[in-house]
Amino acid sequence: FATLPEILGELFRDQPDKLAVVDARRALTYRELDALSGRIAAGLQRDGIAVADAVAICASSSVEYAAAFIGVLRAGGVVAPLAPSSTPESLRIQLDDCGAKLFFLDAGVAEAMGPQLDGAPARRVTLDGSAGGTPLEAWLPRGEAAPAPVTIRPDQGFNIIYSSGTTGAPKGIVQSHRMRWSHIRGGVFPPDAVTVVSTPLYSNTTLVSFLPTLSAGGTVVLMPKFEAEQFLELSQRHRATHAMLVPVQYRRLLDRPDFDRFDLSSYRVKFSTSAPFAAELKAEVLRRWPGGLVEFYGMTEGGGTCALLAHEHPDKLHTVGRPLPGHEIRLIDEDGREVAPGEIGEVVGRSPSMMSGYHGKPEKTADAEWISPQGERFIRTGDVGRFDEDGFLTLMDRKKDMIISGGFNIYPSDLEAELALHPAVAEAAVVGVASAAWGETPVAFVALKPGKQANAGELKTWLNGRVGKTQRLTDLRIVAELPRSHIGKVLKRELRDTYQMTEE
Ligand code: ATP
Ligand code: MG
Repeated sequence: FATLPEILGELFRDQPDKLAVVDARRALTYRELDALSGRIAAGLQRDGIAVADAVAICASSSVEYAAAFIGVLRAGGVVAPLAPSSTPESLRIQLDDCGAKLFFLDAGVAEAMGPQLDGAPARRVTLDGSAGGTPLEAWLPRGEAAPAPVTIRPDQGFNIIYSSGTTGAPKGIVQSHRMRWSHIRGGVFPPDAVTVVSTPLYSNTTLVSFLPTLSAGGTVVLMPKFEAEQFLELSQRHRATHAMLVPVQYRRLLDRPDFDRFDLSSYRVKFSTSAPFAAELKAEVLRRWPGGLVEFYGMTEGGGTCALLAHEHPDKLHTVGRPLPGHEIRLIDEDGREVAPGEIGEVVGRSPSMMSGYHGKPEKTADAEWISPQGERFIRTGDVGRFDEDGFLTLMDRKKDMIISGGFNIYPSDLEAELALHPAVAEAAVVGVASAAWGETPVAFVALKPGKQANAGELKTWLNGRVGKTQRLTDLRIVAELPRSHIGKVLKRELRDTYQMTEE
């Protein structure tokens, strides 16, 4: 076991002139990252931040953000990276919940939070030097400052990440140094990796590529905001070897008419995680983009992670692959018993990378656990899936999104996959809404491909002619686009609310 500051300490010494972190305005070598993160750590200690104290960061991705993240760890603190896209009320709740004594933010966040910052106990420092707090340059200790050495235990908090809130209110997920170490030493990113990070730094999706790239001694290229053309240009300019993208970003990239004109031959592997990745889209990525494609299925809470090496298993693209070595996944029924082989059940998993728990919420932590008959601790995912005969996992839906209509289980993913086969349909989401006759009944929201026309009534009739009697849609609506979270997940609860509010 080694902490990230210990691993980085060696790299600061061994490869000072190599580029560590790059953004649109600035690039830091390992020497410069050492200097800036060291001054930040010293500043935190001067302000009374002690080992295991939380420090919040809420800002767009930048080299200063990266340095602050590492600075907090070097001071012995726990990073609470918050999502700027949260509502101001939710941000204030998260800031208070994590108990941060100091808050790094930027102009955008200060403006968005406005009065929600009033009375917040955390001292504010602006990473972009704007008003809304003490500008970073003015706050930093003068000259070269090094933090006092700290002792970090393996089970001390590394970060608190607030869950995406796809299915409810965000929960603070505490990950320890030991858990992070299991990602960092994973060996997925080689020392010569140049990784383009186009998702925001506060999400676990990003951290599982950002942290391992840096700790391997590679170079991270940050994008404050995903923009398809800029991603392609940056990839070409920096001869990128790795990238972590969410499925909707792959779609945006491949939809560009000039995609095939960019030289992406430097890519060795692209990764994806976070949301369902359609088999057709994976196949298209493999066809049009050189290098491997690996999909991960897991959650911020940890538990078990599956990986699909799509380039090696083109016949398994409808699955999320098999559990990683050291990760165990089982499927359980409503009564908490393991299902028979080939049956559908809720996914539970365990591995060396499990969260310590939800911050300050022991009951919620207990709810998220499943204890096997042998007494092992697993984490429940709330996702429903099935293993095939080769041990590959197919995900159906989140339990909360499953529809029970007249006593029959309807899997929205089945209907969505069927709708996607219609030539005019770009994407579809099916949700259950209350029904007097059936308890719940499925309705679909469909976005059309650019330039295509379709009539909602006809599309519904078309779909209902292709599915089982119990699966038929009650309603179908055409929308300009599906509502998505900041990390590209379809927000089904928003669709249910919209439907219920606007039902005739
Ligand atoms: P919240 O728990 O607040 O509702 P969230 O579950 O979306 O938010 P994350 O931990 O970021 O927060 O996401 C984990 C979930 O994302 C998984 O439980 C699963 O539903 C989904 N997911 C992750 N990877 C994949 C994948 N490869 N394919 C399909 N779904 C995925
Ligand atoms: Mg979740």
